[in-house]
Amino acid sequence: MPSNWDGIDRKTKKIVRLIKDRGYDADIIFAFKRDGISLQRLAVESGMGFIGKSGLVITESFGPAIRFSGILTDAEIKIQKKLKPENSCGDCVRCIVNCPAGAIEKKESFKCSGYTEGLGQKDCSICVDICTYSDEGRRG
Ligand code: SF4
Ligand code: SF4
Repeated sequence: MPSNWDGIDRKTKKIVRLIKDRGYDADIIFAFKRDGISLQRLAVESGMGFIGKSGLVITESFGPAIRFSGILTDAEIKIQKKLKPENSCGDCVRCIVNCPAGAIEKKESFKCSGYTEGLGQKDCSICVDICTYSDEGRRG
């Protein structure tokens, strides 16, 4: 069964083809297999968002509810203006106090993996859903 990652990679491959059709070099950085490249860091550098206290990239349109794939290319790309400085969480601590594993407070990501592994088939996305920048979080 195709995963969300497959869908992202399929769409990215289409964009790679479009760039190549315009005479530029382009190659995909797969969403799941990143070859040591931090797509989150690149997303921030290119102005797509900032790193929130949750450690997730927070974007203006989708908050933290976003996944990344990447394209290496020699085509000239206009860099977007940065969304906000790195401290855009302000006084918000929603993700910290609501994380059931206590993983965010001390930046202990192993606690997150331990907790989510224990959930089996289910996913924990509390830090995404609760974020003031996500749709659910905005609804309060
Ligand atoms: S996914 Fe769940 S356990 Fe992991 S950091 Fe987010 S809220 Fe905490
Ligand atoms: S829930 Fe609040 S503190 Fe956590 S990442 Fe979102 S805005 Fe930042």
